[in-house]
Amino acid sequence: MRSNPQVETKFKSGFISIIGQPNVGKSTLLNRLIKRKLTIVSPKPQTTRNRILGVLNQVEAQLIFWDTPGIYKPRHALDKRMVAAAYQSLKQVDAVLFMIQTGQRSNLEEEKNILKALPKSKIPVFLVINKIDLVEKSELLPVIDYYRQLFNFRQLIPVSALNGSGIEELIAELIEVLPAGPRYFPPEMFTDQPERFIMAEIIREQVFLLTRQEIPYASAVMVEEMREGDNNRPLYMRCVIYIEHNSQKKIIIGQAGGMIKKIGQAARMEMEQLLDSRVYLDLWVKVKKDWRENQG
Ligand code: GDP
Ligand code: MG
Repeated sequence: MRSNPQVETKFKSGFISIIGQPNVGKSTLLNRLIKRKLTIVSPKPQTTRNRILGVLNQVEAQLIFWDTPGIYKPRHALDKRMVAAAYQSLKQVDAVLFMIQTGQRSNLEEEKNILKALPKSKIPVFLVINKIDLVEKSELLPVIDYYRQLFNFRQLIPVSALNGSGIEELIAELIEVLPAGPRYFPPEMFTDQPERFIMAEIIREQVFLLTRQEIPYASAVMVEEMREGDNNRPLYMRCVIYIEHNSQKKIIIGQAGGMIKKIGQAARMEMEQLLDSRVYLDLWVKVKKDWRENQG
């Protein structure tokens, strides 16, 4: 092993979008990448907005995986603006994983169109060829050839999301292209529930927007409970806005509860879009003196 103490290695981080047809193995890949299941929010295909799927923490990097819904959908259901938004969102990530499976492949024309429409930018697009455990190596060659000619992929990476082969290479290639950046998510707190962090941020944002900055610096939001509703019931979420003084509590609650209602409604609508699920938001305000000091 070689090491060079003169070269200071910078921490890297970034957002990676995974796109691919249904069934190619996106969820399996994610579970493999983040080495655990994100169970709070089950992935649903009809999502309208980007959503964090998982965070992979490495010593030298943090990889945040998003999905880009709206690209693979039956044509007739397409809302042009939504598709445009999906492509637009691809410009904001640091890398794209374009995932296909070996063996039986379908919708090749659509695939071509998607590749054509990808942003012509410097964002690296990787072709992830999944399910290589199902075929002989020799069968991969024509596939690789085909895609090489179709698009200028940064790399073509054969993997098996199921048995893990190729996954380390994939991670290494991704880290290679990520920019220097911070850990967006504290590893000890949010790796298995990035949703909670985002949900709290959504509420904070609404407090900020609707109370016009009187409160935010003195507030913290905790998601105290989040559970999937059974039998088609909405996702239940109990959140508490902590503030320092009673006077702030009055502002947040508002005349006859008008303000907290507005905050809750606006936050809930955003959560529902993000999670693609109905949400029951049980929102509370509590005074907790000196919480800032307590947080250290
Ligand atoms: P998604 O719709 O793209 O999220 O696909 P899923 O991750 O749900 O996978 C669809 C099916 O393919 C499931 O039955 C997986 O077990 C299977 N699958 C995923 N990855 C692999 C793989 O690498 N090899 C094999 N043999 N099956 C896989
Ligand atoms: Mg899936």
